[in-house]
Amino acid sequence: MNKGSKLYEGKAKIIYETKDKDLVIQHFKDDATAFNNLKKAKVEGKGVLNNRISEYILTNLAQCGIKNHFIKRLNMREQLIRKAEIFPIEFIVRNIATGSLTKRLGIPEGTVLEKPLLEYCYKNDELQDPLISKDHIFSFGWASKKEIEEIDITTLRINDLLSGMFRGIGIKLVDFKIEYGKAWNKDSEKKEIVLADEISPDTCRLWDIKTEKKLDKDRFRRDLGNVIQGYQEVARRLGIMPEETNISEVNFGKTTSIKFKKK
Ligand code: 5GP
Repeated sequence: MNKGSKLYEGKAKIIYETKDKDLVIQHFKDDATAFNNLKKAKVEGKGVLNNRISEYILTNLAQCGIKNHFIKRLNMREQLIRKAEIFPIEFIVRNIATGSLTKRLGIPEGTVLEKPLLEYCYKNDELQDPLISKDHIFSFGWASKKEIEEIDITTLRINDLLSGMFRGIGIKLVDFKIEYGKAWNKDSEKKEIVLADEISPDTCRLWDIKTEKKLDKDRFRRDLGNVIQGYQEVARRLGIMPEETNISEVNFGKTTSIKFKKK
């Protein structure tokens, strides 16, 4: 698949055109940002890991009937995806209180929520992605009632599926952010809502079940060190890194070269 011109460059990814107007290439960069771009760094190998982890998760979700934009991985940093018109909304699900929830409302860090909490944020860097209500979404036409009804159900189902997937490998899914878009369906000749963007340690909070060690972007946000090792640990437990790349508790702090299992 030949890469065309750049359509969009975000903080962690670049989108390129292809010859097919309904398909684009998503390129994963090593750039990490936090606190509205105030903190920036390159985390070598992050793009490669997120490409693989997101491929694994979206493929598994598709097998469970969650329609998404992923088509195939093209190489270490790129994947072919369906072009989607992204809703300007971040959908956040929380199972355990941390991050902005604790800051905003004073809920004690680590409180296990009685049921998953679904939040909406307006996707706007200049405004720092503010928290919004459903009425904001409807008032400003960012999505319709019917679309949000469908997305809410899908989002909570994704939380169930991902929580189970991560529990199976000794990881708690604390919270995550997902995005949706509308993509053309050739068969029905209509646009349909699809899960888009990525699901990776950049967009989820993932804690080791036993030790509560953070295996996600909070290692970067909070200067905890060993950022890439956290991401590698997630990839290894998901079974997408070879066993010989053994990043166990013992050698968590060592730099390990990234190798992958052949498909
Ligand atoms: P919080 O609102 O506590 O900062 O984030 C809640 C969850 O959503 C976390 O898992 C966080 O990684 C994710 N999240 C929220 N906003 C963004 C964003 O703009 N970019 C990324 N990559 N993740 C986000």
